[in-house]
Amino acid sequence: MKNNSINTLVRKNILELRPYVSFRDHNEFNSPVMLDANESPFGECNRYPDSTQKKLKNKLAELKNISPSQIAVGNGSDELIDLIIKIFCEPKKDAILMMNPSFAMYGFYAAINENKVLKLDLNENFEIVKNDFLKIAEDPSLKVFFLCSPNNPTGNSIDDIEFYLQNFNGIVVVDEAYIEFSGKKSSLELLDQYSNLIVLQTFSKAWGFAGARVGMAYASGEIIRLINTVKAPYNVNVLSQELIVKTLNDEKRFQENVNRILEERTWLQEQFEGIACISKVFSTDANFFLIRMENVDSVYTRMLEEEILTSRRDPAIPGCIRINVGNREENEKLINLLKGI
Ligand SMILES: *Cc1c(COP(=O)(O)O)cnc(C)c1O
Repeated sequence: MKNNSINTLVRKNILELRPYVSFRDHNEFNSPVMLDANESPFGECNRYPDSTQKKLKNKLAELKNISPSQIAVGNGSDELIDLIIKIFCEPKKDAILMMNPSFAMYGFYAAINENKVLKLDLNENFEIVKNDFLKIAEDPSLKVFFLCSPNNPTGNSIDDIEFYLQNFNGIVVVDEAYIEFSGKKSSLELLDQYSNLIVLQTFSKAWGFAGARVGMAYASGEIIRLINTVKAPYNVNVLSQELIVKTLNDEKRFQENVNRILEERTWLQEQFEGIACISKVFSTDANFFLIRMENVDSVYTRMLEEEILTSRRDPAIPGCIRINVGNREENEKLINLLKGI
C-alpha cells in the first residue's frame, strides 16, 4: 500500500466511535452475582455471551500462532464482510473492488451500504490480468479489494497475493473460506509485513459448522479494534462459542474430514472424465467443481427433478454449474444421473 496510515482510510464517524464495553467481560471475577444485565436467573442459556470471545480467540491464537489482539470473530465471515465495508467505505461515495466472477456477497453488502462495486473481469482461466488490475486500482473511490482465493465459484487460487497488497491504495481482504482444501499457504504469514491486509477464514466449509455461524478476520491490532468497535457486542452466541472451542480441541477429526472430502474430490474428478454431457471441468483448489455442460438447461433440470441441488452459474458463466463434493452416497447419485444424460 502506498498510503502509510490505515486511519486515513477509515470513515471519520467510525474513527470517533467509542466501543460498547461490557464491564463484566473486561474484568476478572471469581463467582460474581450477576445483576447487571437484566438477564433471567433461570434457564440454560440465560446469560449473554462473552462479547470479547476470549476463550475462542485464545484457542485460535494458539492454533494460528498469532496474537488474540489480531483476531476478530463474526457471525459467519459474512458479517465481517459487511463490517469491513462499513468501516472503510463512505456511503454514496466510496467503492469496493471485486473479481468477476467471484463471491456475490461482497457486492450484496456493498449495495446495502450504498457503496459502488467495481468489477475486475478475470481471464478465460479465471486469473487476474495484472495490468487490468493496475488500471482499475487507480480509481480514487476504491477503499477495499475483496480477493477471494481459492475463488468461489471458479475454484482456482490466485497467485502472487503480495503484488495486490503492494499495488492497492486501500485494504485488501483475502477471503480464504476454502484455503484448507487448497494445500496452499495462507496469507496469514503476510500480516506482519502488510498493514492493509485482512485475512478472512470461516468454520462454515472445511470445519463443517456452517450452521454455527462463526467466521474470523485476522489483521493488525488497529484494524481488529475497529471491527470490535462496530460489531454488535453479542454477535456470536454462547452455544456457537462453546461448540467451536470444543471443536478446536479435536483438530484431528477436522483433518480426517478434510482428507475424506479431498479423496471424494479426486474420485469425482475421475468419474467426470467419461461423462458425455460434460464439456469441461475447471481445476479446483476448493471443495467444489465448476463444470461446463454441453446443454446446461437440460442437465440442471434433470438434476433438479431428482432433487440433486447444485448451483447454476449460467448465464453469468456460460454453460456452467457449480457442484460441491458430498459424501460417497451423494456423489454416486450425482454421477449415476449424469452418466444417464
Ligand atoms: C462460504 C463462503 C464464505 C463463508 O461465509 P460464512 O458467513 O462464514 O458462512 C465466505 N466467503 C466465501 C467466498 C464463501 O464461499
